[in-house]
Order: sequence, then structure tokens, then C-alpha cells
Amino acid sequence: MNKKTKKSSEGCEDKNCPIHGELSVRGRTFVGTIISTKMHKTVVVEWLWKKKVAKYERYESKRTRLKAHNPQCISAQDGDIVKIAECRPLSKTKNFVIIEVLGKERGFKEKIEAREEGKFKKEGKDSEAKVDEKEDKNEEVESSEAEKSTEKIVE
Ligand SMILES: [Zn+2]
Repeated sequence: MNKKTKKSSEGCEDKNCPIHGELSVRGRTFVGTIISTKMHKTVVVEWLWKKKVAKYERYESKRTRLKAHNPQCISAQDGDIVKIAECRPLSKTKNFVIIEVLGKERGFKEKIEAREEGKFKKEGKDSEAKVDEKEDKNEEVESSEAEKSTEKIVE
């Protein structure tokens, strides 16, 4: 952020560090959880949000995943809640940088494990799940006054 504090750091030699390097940040900032640190100096940050669908007066759950630069002096880990800020493109798909670690997400391990389990369940019980869905559809349509709009939502 401040270019003149460049040499006051202890061993942060990252050119693309927003604090000690020459990288300037501008644009949007987000807060999310790190779900992967497998890449070199790059993390995947994820957060959930809701989008309003005006037509149906309901909310749709959305999940955003972004790649962000992980500066040497920050070295955030899996499960960390971080603040990321937009910067110039650092690679083809990376144009955000971590500027702050806000804390650890509680129950992050459990969440990831549950997600992995869910994947396996879906693969095994695909046919059963589909039957359940069909039943739900019928019930909803019958109980609804505005039949047409409900049908569209379910589809
Ligand atoms: Zn630094």
C-alpha cells in the first residue's frame, strides 16, 4: 500500500506484497474463507451470498470462488478468514491479493469433511434422490395457489 515502507519489513521480499512490495490495490474488497493453499503463493478464497430473484420473490444461494495472492509476510492457511483486495492482474486468473487475516473459521475441517462426504453420497444415491425430488414437486404444486409460478421454480 505504502511504497516508502518497503525496507522496514523483516524478510518480506515479495514484490507483490501490498504492504512491503510495489503492488497497489484498488477496486473491490471482499471477506472470505481460504479453501485451498495448494498453489504456490496463491490461495482460493470462497464466500457465500444471496441473490434476490425478483420474479419469484425468493433468494438464490450463490458461492463465489476467487484466486488471490498470498504474500510472504501473511502466509495465510486453510480455513483462515481473510480480507482480499483487487489489484492489477498478477496472472491469468489472479487479480486479488490478501491484505489481512481476520481469524480462523470455526469448524472449517468439519465443513470440508462434510462436503467431501456429500460428494460421495450424491454419486451413490443419485437415483434415490431423484425420486424424492419428484415427490416433493407434486406436493408443492398441489398445495400452492399460484400453480404456474411454483412449477417454474421447482423446475
Ligand atoms: Zn510483506
